[in-house]
Amino acid sequence: MSERTRVAIVGAAGRMGRMLTATMLADPGIQVVGAIDRAEAPGVGQDIGTLAGRGAVGVTIGTSLADVVDSAQVVIEFSAPEASVEHAGFVASRGKAMVIGTTGLSEEHLARIRTAAATSPILVAPNMSLGVNVLLRLLPQITTALGEGYDIEIVESHHRGKKDAPSGTALKLGEVVAGALGKRLPDVAVHGRSGIQPRVSGEIGFHAIRAGANVGDHTVIYSNEGEQIEITHRAFSRETFALGAVTACKWIVGRGPGLYSMQDVVG
Ligand code: NAD
Repeated sequence: MSERTRVAIVGAAGRMGRMLTATMLADPGIQVVGAIDRAEAPGVGQDIGTLAGRGAVGVTIGTSLADVVDSAQVVIEFSAPEASVEHAGFVASRGKAMVIGTTGLSEEHLARIRTAAATSPILVAPNMSLGVNVLLRLLPQITTALGEGYDIEIVESHHRGKKDAPSGTALKLGEVVAGALGKRLPDVAVHGRSGIQPRVSGEIGFHAIRAGANVGDHTVIYSNEGEQIEITHRAFSRETFALGAVTACKWIVGRGPGLYSMQDVVG
């Protein structure tokens, strides 16, 4: 029998943490060896299987990464930016691999993660779904083929509890589109529109909707005076992200130090 990948989950009591737990417990190739969350989080002290609706499995959600990191090969985290960055340094110092799904990471956060990735493999992906990662591959082709003459806007819609806006996925889509046009996203991004603010040619507009329970829609619009293309990705369930996260955890074990993305995995 092939060895199972030993995983510790950070943010285990959260929306993604619970879905990830359920998905991992159903996968014979994964062994969840530990799980943590913030001391104040509801769910701490409970069995992960019970919390994920699958029945007790004998792993309790704790609050200390130090208690679980050594038994894991990979730490996976869906939590908050500052937490993920701090944990990345700690996980790397223990020589373990890490997968970070947390979004809202600033350039400074990414620089700190890159430093940690000099000693351990770390994968950062704002969207773990296969569909979005295939889309990220295709967008440069579409953008280059259309050229400069199209206005580009990115619209995303998420549940009311999402903290960061625009979403990490929207920013990643924008980064890829801007890159295909030979531009840096910060130089061309415009966030929301309000007041008297005519559109400037070459801008990439971002619009974020926060309502209800939507797990995530993203649309990239290319429009000129004659036509419009709209490319939409719609996630129907968090399971689609969790399945990608499981693939990423299996993929990263045994890799050398470095900063990886889901593009490396789907490639
Ligand atoms: P959530 O608020 O439901 O869960 C986050 C969990 O992290 C909470 O339980 C919180 O207590 C915990 N947490 C916060 N700080 C912590 C710390 N210092 N130590 C341990 N645990 C800590 O949010 P969510 O909807 O599960 O999303 C979590 C993150 O994952 C967000 O950044 C979200 O945008 C991102 N996300 C990424 C993907 C992807 O595919 N990459 C998909 C969905 C969500």
